[in-house]
Amino acid sequence: MTLDEYRKKRNFTATPEPSGDGTPARKESAKLIYVIQKHRATQLHYDFRLAWAGTLLSWAVPKGPSLDPSVKRLAMQVEDHPIEYADFEGVIPADEYGGGTVMVWDIGTWEPEVPNVDAALRKGDLKFTLHGKKLQGSWALVRTAGWGGNRGKPSWLLIKHRDQYASDADITGEQPHSAISHRLLADIARDNGGDVEKAATGDPQPEVATPTKASPGEKPGVKQAATKKSVKKTAATKTIK
Ligand code: MN
Repeated sequence: MTLDEYRKKRNFTATPEPSGDGTPARKESAKLIYVIQKHRATQLHYDFRLAWAGTLLSWAVPKGPSLDPSVKRLAMQVEDHPIEYADFEGVIPADEYGGGTVMVWDIGTWEPEVPNVDAALRKGDLKFTLHGKKLQGSWALVRTAGWGGNRGKPSWLLIKHRDQYASDADITGEQPHSAISHRLLADIARDNGGDVEKAATGDPQPEVATPTKASPGEKPGVKQAATKKSVKKTAATKTIK
């Protein structure tokens, strides 16, 4: 594992991201760090990172994690990041590599479920348990056969295993805030002189009341009647209570 590619892509006089030089200030605990950073760059994505062998193994997950075991999320492997990157939350200048707003969406620790992590990574089938603030339980990263489309970097799938933490809840939609500061992307951009409007496109959109148009073949009168009926029903329920 090496941080050469990570450093080559970045100008540390211009970006607030850590260079990964020298020793981390805090004593490394025996537990392995796990973090997901929500990153509103050119495209919104979630950077999934597992500490291993002194760096953060990293995958970019365009749609983010899903708690539904039947949903497999594409995870494109990217360059290893320094351990200090785990609590980086802020703004990468627009002209720099990965320019945009970064949020620590989830953070915690991970445990391998395999006896030999290096062998599992080589094989392309890593099973592990997450102890995050949002994600828990058993997961897998499985390398796919296709290697194209990502500059020679392998594609993997991030999959939730069936356990008590599996669910059909929309975890990314329902829990959009930072796990360390409780801010939204727009708040982080505002606090760090970033592009607030661009960042906000990665936050949940406020629900706009759209005027209901009758679809072709549907009689507006019928719909109206149905609405009236449901209102009446609600009123009746209230009366009973
Ligand atoms: Mn990223």
